[in-house]
Formats: sequence, structure tokens, C-alpha cells
Amino acid sequence: MADFVSLTCPSCGSRLQVTNDLEMFACGYCGNELVVRRGGGIVSLAPVVAGLDKVQQSVVNVGIGVDRTASELAIQRLRQDLHGLEQEWQEVDAEKSIGIGAGIVGLVLGWLAIANDSGAVGPVILVFGIIALLAYFGGERGKSAKKAVLKAKMQKIGEEINYHQLKLASH
Ligand SMILES: [Zn+2]
Repeated sequence: MADFVSLTCPSCGSRLQVTNDLEMFACGYCGNELVVRRGGGIVSLAPVVAGLDKVQQSVVNVGIGVDRTASELAIQRLRQDLHGLEQEWQEVDAEKSIGIGAGIVGLVLGWLAIANDSGAVGPVILVFGIIALLAYFGGERGKSAKKAVLKAKMQKIGEEINYHQLKLASH
């Protein structure tokens, strides 16, 4: 069995001696890259470019599939994130009623205690009521800051979901 076969370069027509272990090489005359195809006892040469096109096309196709799955997964994840933020929003809203409730109860009880002349108990409760109300107003400010952050996050997630939906729609 010969160690090489004589083949014609498909690009420039030069005679090339191709050894049995070669799979891909560049033509010594024109420099074009060639693939050695062995099948059915026939050895032939083909330009690498044609083969690469096919490879690239399948890579592109795979890419679209992966993109699609990635977008679908991203939308799922983003919707979960959005749901979490909505819950946080509701929790922030719920903080309010407790703070102002404690403040009002403190003021009313303190006032009643003072009105009933129960010594030092009244002023102490009143002070706690005032502290609770101050905490409430401070909390309100913190709350609107928290809400602004949440709103910005939700908007961003909404935009990301739109982006992925557009991407899915375009395929
Ligand atoms: Zn050549």
C-alpha cells in the first residue's frame, strides 16, 4: 500500500502528494486549505471553506436554539424576580400600618393615662407614642426610598422581559 496518493488541488490544479495520515493541509502551490475526504475507497480533496460554511451554519442554527431557550429561561427567571419585588413592595406597604398604629395607640393611651392622673405612666406612654410616630415618619421616608428602588428594579425587569419577548418573536 502506497504511503501517499497523488491528487489534484481543486483550487489551482497542481498535483499534490497526500500522505495517508493527512486530514487537512494547505496546498503548497496556492496556499488554499484543503480537506482530505476518504470514503468508499476514494480519496478526494475539497476546499476547507465549503466545509466550514456548513459547520458555521449548524453553529448558527444551534445558536438560535440556545438563544431561544436562554430567552425563555430568562423570562421565567425575570417573572419570578418581578413577583419577588411585588411581594417586597407589599411588605413595605404593610410596615406603615404597624408604625402609625403603635404611634396612635401610644398617644391615646398616654393621653388617657395623663387625663386619669396616673402619675408617671401617662407621660412615659405618651413619649413612646411620639417616638413611634417619629419612627413612622422616618419609616415613611425610608419607605418611599425603598419603593423608588423597587420601582426602578421592576421597570428594568419589565424592559428585560420585553427585550427577550421581542427576541423570541423575531425568530
Ligand atoms: Zn493549490
